[in-house]
Amino acid sequence: MKHAESLGSRVYQGVQVSEVLFDEKNFTRGVRLRIADQEIEVPSRMVVDATGRQTLLGKQLRVKKNDPIFDQFAVHAWFKNVERGKEPSTDYIHIYFLPVERGWAWQIPIDHEITSMGIVAEKEVFKKGRMAPGEYFQKYVDSNPDLQHAMRNAERINDFKLEGDYSYKMDTFAGNGFVLIGDAARFVDPIFSSGVSVALYSAKYSSERIQYAFEHNDFSEAALKPYEKKLRSGTEIWYEFIRLYYKLLPLFTKFIGSKEHRIEILRLLQGEVFDRSEVPVLDAMRKYIKVVEETPNHAFASMLTDIPIS
Ligand SMILES: Cc1cc2nc3c(=O)[nH]c(=O)nc-3n(C[C@H](O)[C@H](O)[C@H](O)COP(=O)(O)OP(=O)(O)OC[C@H]3O[C@@H](n4cnc5c(N)ncnc54)[C@H](O)[C@@H]3O)c2cc1C
Repeated sequence: MKHAESLGSRVYQGVQVSEVLFDEKNFTRGVRLRIADQEIEVPSRMVVDATGRQTLLGKQLRVKKNDPIFDQFAVHAWFKNVERGKEPSTDYIHIYFLPVERGWAWQIPIDHEITSMGIVAEKEVFKKGRMAPGEYFQKYVDSNPDLQHAMRNAERINDFKLEGDYSYKMDTFAGNGFVLIGDAARFVDPIFSSGVSVALYSAKYSSERIQYAFEHNDFSEAALKPYEKKLRSGTEIWYEFIRLYYKLLPLFTKFIGSKEHRIEILRLLQGEVFDRSEVPVLDAMRKYIKVVEETPNHAFASMLTDIPIS
């Protein structure tokens, strides 16, 4: 942002964009925003929606679709005095598995004192439990001995926050004079922490098309669509990886330990892959799942879930 400002962009901070404005030909013509209690219109030929999970343009254009498979729900808060283990792991992100459908917990260091802790599970689990967020949170902390240990002296320092409408995607990521980037375009269960990386790549790839649009004075959907194609192929790979993982949890540990596939898995975890042919590990995982499915006495057979993978 500072770089853009140094090149002549005007930067407004602390303002709320309320609407993206379109002209009679259905091209964006700017945004309406609130600044110092005033509504103003700022003209612009190109609008980049980077509003994250607020999904401003997705909601305005009614192109937001909740994910048909992942309907998860998170309850999270910040804590002091979480037991983060010994150096160097005090700075690590930890994931705990919970004994409930697609359930896991995160432990993310915010600074040397504060830790973000969150419980994720299917929304049905929360609804059926009919518990207050704090009670629900504690129930699942107590369901995993390692997590319970980490939280034994923890002290909550802010209110519990709830994340519903957890996973979604937009029907379109680019149109006449606009693109959607980062979480404004798509959000999938952050089990592998790839969100920031995907958001940055989407910014990079969209900027290439925006540059093209300015150079050719062409802000049409057709000029911007190659960005959508690129981002969609990347997010589909990442989505496939997450589905395969939930189909058979031990798959991940098996493949990350393999010499042949370890690097591919690490790149997938980073959200860095935009070309399916670069990750044959996904086909290897599919083959492995098929073997487990067809071998009733396989050691992992009882761990197969009903997640559709095709
Ligand atoms: C529970 C949870 C845990 C996660 N854990 C991880 C993790 O461990 N690792 C990881 O990489 N990712 C994680 N993610 C994902 C990650 O947070 C996002 O993918 C990433 O922040 C997306 O970046 P973004 O810039 O698209 O959106 P955001 O970071 O959400 O930024 C959007 C910005 O737009 C502003 N904004 C919104 N609406 C308006 C408006 N109308 N006008 C003006 N400004 C507006 C917001 O204030 C915000 O500053 C997690 C997400 C969740 C929900």
